[in-house]
Amino acid sequence: MSENPVVDSAGDKRWFSNGCLHKDGGPAVEWYSGYKAWFKKGKIHREDGPAIEYTNGDKKWFIDGEQLTEEEFNNRNLREFMMDHDSDYTPVMCSVCGQIYNGQMAEDKPYSERTTCGNEECISKVKGEIE
Ligand SMILES: [Zn+2]
Repeated sequence: MSENPVVDSAGDKRWFSNGCLHKDGGPAVEWYSGYKAWFKKGKIHREDGPAIEYTNGDKKWFIDGEQLTEEEFNNRNLREFMMDHDSDYTPVMCSVCGQIYNGQMAEDKPYSERTTCGNEECISKVKGEIE
């Protein structure tokens, strides 16, 4: 269990568990400036997105303290995803946000919905590119 954050004089917050930076379900480091970093048992780690989000919008991906490129991270997620689902699932990566969805279900849908995860934001982005 993560406890309350340690807040320093600058307003930066850090969550610890057993003396290591650690937080489940959110960044273990949240700086007042907007910088965020995810940690698991002291190692920089995040499975559902970038492990570091910089104030300027830059992102970096880490698993168990090891840095991955965005592509390596997405490929890793795709592999894990396929292992979690049976064979009639056709994993397709959303062309906008990179999220993985079942491509089989989408065959009878219009192009904008077929090539995205179904999120309204993603659909409208693809529609906007066609028009
Ligand atoms: Zn999407």
